[in-house]
Amino acid sequence: MKTRILILTISVILFATTVYSQKTEATRLLEEQNKQFIPEIFQITENVHFAVGYEVSNIAMIEGETGIIIIDAGMSPVRMETLRLKFREITDKPIKGIIITHGHGDHFGGVQAFLDEGSNPQVWGRSGALGNNVGFNIEENAGKSAGLTYQNNRGARQAGVILPDSIHINNGIAPRPNKQNTMFNRKKGQAEFEPTHFFSGERKQINIDGIKFDLVAASGETYDNMYVWMPDQKILFCGDTFYKSFPNLYTIRGSQYRDVKSWYESIDKMVAEEPVYLLPGHTRPVIGKEKVNEILSNYSAAIKFVFDKTIEGMNKGLTPDQLVEYVKLPEHLASLPYLTEYYGRVDWGVRSIFNGYLGWFDGNPVNLNKLAPKSEAEKMAIMVGGKDKLRANALKAFKDEDFQWAAQLSDYLLALNINDKEIINLKADALFEIAKTMVTATGRNYMNSYAIQLKEKVGE
Ligand SMILES: [Zn+2]
Repeated sequence: MKTRILILTISVILFATTVYSQKTEATRLLEEQNKQFIPEIFQITENVHFAVGYEVSNIAMIEGETGIIIIDAGMSPVRMETLRLKFREITDKPIKGIIITHGHGDHFGGVQAFLDEGSNPQVWGRSGALGNNVGFNIEENAGKSAGLTYQNNRGARQAGVILPDSIHINNGIAPRPNKQNTMFNRKKGQAEFEPTHFFSGERKQINIDGIKFDLVAASGETYDNMYVWMPDQKILFCGDTFYKSFPNLYTIRGSQYRDVKSWYESIDKMVAEEPVYLLPGHTRPVIGKEKVNEILSNYSAAIKFVFDKTIEGMNKGLTPDQLVEYVKLPEHLASLPYLTEYYGRVDWGVRSIFNGYLGWFDGNPVNLNKLAPKSEAEKMAIMVGGKDKLRANALKAFKDEDFQWAAQLSDYLLALNINDKEIINLKADALFEIAKTMVTATGRNYMNSYAIQLKEKVGE
């Protein structure tokens, strides 16, 4: 009898190991996206070079009459130094100008590597407005002026800073950053970086070292985003208004509302320029007038669809939970590889649009007086026949591979006892399993990081 039980136990363990170690479709798809980050310096035209995969974001070097102009400066001065030396194999002309497409640290964090050359370049950024904050890097400044810091913890989870190699594939639109050199250990004073020149209108043409650049207001991920258009060569640097993923209409690290309507309108402006070369802030370039037109048009259509459909549903009185069922990207758009949800997710965008216009109240009056989590958990436990029954249900849900339900039931049990070691472990294990099925790297990294932090809490 004992032998039979032993054999049964071993086969269950073997079966479980096989099931859980199988590579999911989501994992396979996200690994496939790593091809976007293979390091390469593209020579786009005679004087335009574009580096992909050296940094978290992409960096361009344009040769002017007597010097060079850099567009975007990566995230880490240490990694940027490697790329700067690569660029210096192409030319040793001094840096005359730097243009930063928007105030996210992965686009300006490495600027010191170029400034250290000492040629005193003009540095351009767009001055945007977000609440009381006006200028460059306003998203970060808005948090700072409120005294808010927790978004950094969430950002670190989303970026997978603590994740071991075995479960960190990439960041959806960016390679895994080298842990030693991220923006999380910026050089002293670097967070206070400010451009020397600001552009604040709709469009401004500047000339640096004999090269014409149109700086065009293009809010999307941030309110200080611009695109840079080289009219003579039909090259468009779009910052993070386009990259090969469904856009991050809402970032789960948390930020102020991202203006989804402005986002697709910005892309429509880009389409109207009729670019031949589309050089995004992340992922590989798109080349060819028709191809660029097709991709940008579909990208804009996808964002517009999500926006319009969400507003349509809101006007019917739907709540965010109902809206995520109501708004589904049509198959002809959802199936496009550059609209796969590697980085942003449609349903998160839908919730954000609702919240951006109507705030937290979903419209259901029941939610104006919600029970506190502990009170709800107590009632739930009584309803199912006691806390032990609730626990048994949570454990069974995990065994049945109903991992989301296992995690949700774990939350009830943790509301009853926040130090319940078995349930903390169960929740962590459920999150690990859910993460394997998520193609959206931000959410996947967040889940894995959170699960590791839960395990650390109980000393495992
Ligand atoms: Zn970026």
